[in-house]
Amino acid sequence: MKRQEIKEILQSEAIGSTIKVSGWVRTKRESKNVNFINLNDGTVLSNLQVVADVNLFDESILRKINTGAALTVVGELVESGGQQKVELVAKEIEVVGEADPDKYPLQPKRHSLEFLREIAHLRFRTNTFSSIARIRHAMIFAVHKFFTEKGFFNIHTPIITASDAEGAGEMFQVTTFELNNPPRSDDGKIDYSQDFFGKHTGLTVSGQLEGELAALALSKIYTFGPTFRAENSNTSRHLAEFWMIEPEMAFYDLNDNMDLAEEFLKYLINYALENCEEDLMFLSQRQQQEEKNKPQDQRSMELIEKLKFVADNEFVRLTYTEAIKILQNSKPAKKGKFQYPVEGFGTDLQSEHERYLVEKHFKRPVILIDYPADIKAFYMKVNEDGNTVAAMDVLFPQIGEIIGGSQREERYDVLVEKMKAMNIPLEEMEWYLDTRRYGSVPHSGFGLGFERLITFVTGMGNIRDVIPFPRTPKNCEF
Ligand code: ATP
Ligand code: MN
Repeated sequence: MKRQEIKEILQSEAIGSTIKVSGWVRTKRESKNVNFINLNDGTVLSNLQVVADVNLFDESILRKINTGAALTVVGELVESGGQQKVELVAKEIEVVGEADPDKYPLQPKRHSLEFLREIAHLRFRTNTFSSIARIRHAMIFAVHKFFTEKGFFNIHTPIITASDAEGAGEMFQVTTFELNNPPRSDDGKIDYSQDFFGKHTGLTVSGQLEGELAALALSKIYTFGPTFRAENSNTSRHLAEFWMIEPEMAFYDLNDNMDLAEEFLKYLINYALENCEEDLMFLSQRQQQEEKNKPQDQRSMELIEKLKFVADNEFVRLTYTEAIKILQNSKPAKKGKFQYPVEGFGTDLQSEHERYLVEKHFKRPVILIDYPADIKAFYMKVNEDGNTVAAMDVLFPQIGEIIGGSQREERYDVLVEKMKAMNIPLEEMEWYLDTRRYGSVPHSGFGLGFERLITFVTGMGNIRDVIPFPRTPKNCEF
């Protein structure tokens, strides 16, 4: 007999049929004559209740049916008065994999997220983390669907690279050198010409520069790959390894770029609302439970309401300079409540400022544009004022920056001057400059941090809980 998955069993509700199901025991409840076993196979949030008549099965089998054990059950599907409309009356039970109830770390009770992070190899077996995994998958699919529908091509950009796109020195090195005895040149410096690639290399911090090369031939491309940043920031919004979606479009100016970013985010959120309802409802309840002891004004908006709110409202668009004015005149600035003061033009906005604009001032997502040139990367297009660049950051409630992007500097001379001023080694970037030498065109793009999106969609408070195996400073388990 072919195994059926719980998702299809609960959808078809084929009362009276004999079926075979496999999964892991979430809970077992014993009454005098029957055992009630909640079985979950991860295909959906819901469990299938299995009813086992104790007179039908050997004590040696019943004893092994514990939380965490894997079972295959053949039985008859009958109507149920429980949570689901159907339940399975067991005829045969096979214990596929035992789990010692005294040792299995996941007990049928609420565990803290911190504890579950320590056993991330098992946390998929909880409702919370299986919901997140299913939503994550749906969002990956929606990303590809959106861009495919719009005629974009997916490009794989390299993971090992010699260029540090942001020039921020946050690259992890890639080397095959014996670290305690690397070859050195006469001046005592490490001689990378003898390393595997014959030069200094690292893990990519962004696929953008290579993405630009493709966009200036294919018109519209996107990358969706892992990125690595050795930034030592122990926050709830930063990972050392995360996934980024980076579209790059020829003949797009900053307005086109903003339109695309807004449409994209709304598409993804609507996709989740339409396709992940059960998991979202569960996560919504989880969040409300978690926050029930907080004062009213510190509680989050209900998850589904929040998602609809973002999907249905226009994002505010304003310049960095306007934002600085708003921040300087804000209550927290006047009362000295910001941890980082807003000095004026040139201040790098912190997450507390971004969240103030979004959550308190405008009460909706904000796209900030025209940042000071000095605090942004070399490739951003210089505006006519000479002081600002055509950058755009999309700011979300709870998250702060979810997207960073810009119109790119397409003018060769301006770009070269800028690179010199910012100490970007020109000789290593000739390949990039070629796009500006030959058939250069206005173009734009942005990067969406995939885990920041998932943090927002799931309402989780910490980015470490929305990637299966988080990598953060001093933490690389599993
Ligand atoms: P932040 O100021 O929040 O550190 P950033 O300015 O370094 O972000 P970008 O370099 O513009 O970010 O990267 C594009 C997007 O990638 C960001 O908008 C964010 O969504 C995501 N991102 C950046 N750094 C991280 C990180 N360490 N972990 C997870 N996502 C990140
Ligand atoms: Mn950063």
